[in-house]
Amino acid sequence: MRIDIVSLFPDFVAQLAGHGVVGRALERGLLSLHGWNPRDYAEGSYRRVDDRPFGGGPGMVMLVDPLRACLAAARAADPAPARVSYLSPQGQRLTQARVRELAARERLILLCGRYEGIDERLVAAEVDEELSIGDYVLSGGELAAAVVIDAVARLQEGALNDAESAAQDSFGADAGDGPLLLDCPHYTRPVEHALGVVPSVLLSGNHAAIARWRRQQALGRTWLRRPDLIDRQALSAADRALLDA
Ligand code: SAM
Repeated sequence: MRIDIVSLFPDFVAQLAGHGVVGRALERGLLSLHGWNPRDYAEGSYRRVDDRPFGGGPGMVMLVDPLRACLAAARAADPAPARVSYLSPQGQRLTQARVRELAARERLILLCGRYEGIDERLVAAEVDEELSIGDYVLSGGELAAAVVIDAVARLQEGALNDAESAAQDSFGADAGDGPLLLDCPHYTRPVEHALGVVPSVLLSGNHAAIARWRRQQALGRTWLRRPDLIDRQALSAADRALLDA
């Protein structure tokens, strides 16, 4: 998968590249990241990329032309078609389902705003979708882009080592029809600690009992912490029995 990031601070891409799952996905050739700076496409000796908003008010607005030229260059860098995703607090909220959909694409172009945002004419003409990472306002789209990149990188086949499998992660267990559950609790050595003891079922070697316990924990946690994710009536009889046990 190829991801192009249009940002006034494209160096942030390099920071991502050095670490963890994103770094590994890059090393394994599962992902490539390319930074594009609209300033490189701005004219004049000041290479201006923003200006004051018409109608007055605080802040600056990103100019159409440098962004348009920069997006055109990013698009032309690879023959695969790409939709332009603008990171914006006004966009559709990112969910794991949306991440799965993004991760399945061949290419993404992530457009990061700064200041008060981007001239609306550029957004109307060039942006295919707006993505928000939550109902709060960041000062730039780069952190939001990093969130998208990390989330899609870990879903590239071969990016995760077995022990980190995404299948049991929160929102990932039932990618198809079942409920999207939070993950169960995890424990490691030592078995006994001043802070508590590891649940005995996890030491039993009984795989069916362990799977049942994990499912029950995931159902219970989701019910308590994120009841909005569970439609009790839609649960299978087996899941309802576990939840009630
Ligand atoms: N004036 C804009 C508004 O209220 O909708 C906010 C602009 S914000 C200070 C600057 C940039 O940060 C935005 O253009 C966007 O790229 C990014 N940004 C801020 N919050 C975000 C969020 N929750 N999700 C994704 N991107 C965000």
